[in-house]
Amino acid sequence: MRVLVKGAGVAGLTAAFELASRGASVTVAELRPRLGGNASWAAGGMLAPWCERESAEQPVLDLGRGAADWWDVVLPGQVTRTGTLVVAAPRDVGELDRFASRTSGHRWLGEEDIARLEPDLAGRFKRGLFFPGEAHLDPRRAMAALHDKLVAKGVDFRFATDGQGLPGFECEVDCRGIAADDAALRGVRGEMLILRTPDVSLSRPVRLLHPRFPLYMVPRADHHFMAGATMIESDEAGPVTVRSMMELVGGACALHPAFGEATIVEANAGVRPAFADNLPRIESLANGIAINGFYRHGFLLAPAMARQAADILFNPDKRVGACA
Ligand SMILES: Cc1cc2nc3c(=O)[nH]c(=O)nc-3n(C[C@H](O)[C@H](O)[C@H](O)COP(=O)(O)OP(=O)(O)OC[C@H]3O[C@@H](n4cnc5c(N)ncnc54)[C@H](O)[C@@H]3O)c2cc1C
Repeated sequence: MRVLVKGAGVAGLTAAFELASRGASVTVAELRPRLGGNASWAAGGMLAPWCERESAEQPVLDLGRGAADWWDVVLPGQVTRTGTLVVAAPRDVGELDRFASRTSGHRWLGEEDIARLEPDLAGRFKRGLFFPGEAHLDPRRAMAALHDKLVAKGVDFRFATDGQGLPGFECEVDCRGIAADDAALRGVRGEMLILRTPDVSLSRPVRLLHPRFPLYMVPRADHHFMAGATMIESDEAGPVTVRSMMELVGGACALHPAFGEATIVEANAGVRPAFADNLPRIESLANGIAINGFYRHGFLLAPAMARQAADILFNPDKRVGACA
């Protein structure tokens, strides 16, 4: 089967992987001139289905709990399985109770437990929640490695094209994220910072709860941290606003004052593609399928959705449109 995948975000790359692994001849067409610059590039890379259940529906946990294994098998060495720590400032401890009541897969920590897990946070938080089953990866490293792996499998990448006019495909998989022609999609803008400081070390993503400005900090290589992220109902991908910058920087400094001396390596925004229920969907198109609506959960849910998409395209009873 010759398949054209449109879009080289995490949805397109994971779909290409599942299809190529099952023997399809895959071409990926990406409008941008190179990998990145999309929502996936801005992501934190948290594989955190238990934490996300705080505001997400049960399918996010059901579909997402296998994500770390998928990434680990496909890209060995890229997944860090050190769990997630959730803390709150003393005046916001009620937020921790609320978070705990809406989630599972955690255990309560006291001040000393927090210091054992994250020595640099010693003395800063009296209580916390630890989600030991969670993991994270660096989305940019993962996407670059997945691209290379796909090329090695024979997948043909075409950049700076929308794929129109490329001949000979039996079937298309539309993974264009917020750019897809789907009136049911909305954009949820997420602004983020990449900070660098040698003065703080964290071994895992840390979520700082706050009634209005929750923040997470994801450690990356070479003293870098990804601080995120705003949630704004907008499909505007423009530069980070002053207000959002203040919120993110304020949250970072509340987590640890040494972030005040960090350098801001990057301030960026991505637009999360979302349906009304904030769950991803596979939809039938005249000439194939669309995989979209990953909202906050692209890295978490794309592997499961890619497998489902491959099941559909390779199952003669389920084949759709021109793929039949
Ligand atoms: C700040 C932020 C933090 C996040 N943190 C996390 C996290 O920690 N964990 C997690 O799981 N998820 C996270 N997400 C969510 C995740 O990033 C998204 O759900 C995911 O990136 C959506 O992937 P996608 O491939 O559908 O879209 P995109 O990554 O936007 O990719 C779509 C691609 O299609 C291309 N395209 C558009 N039009 C065309 C065309 N006509 N032809 C060809 N190509 C086209 C675009 O150029 C783009 O490259 C975060 C998102 C943001 C913004």
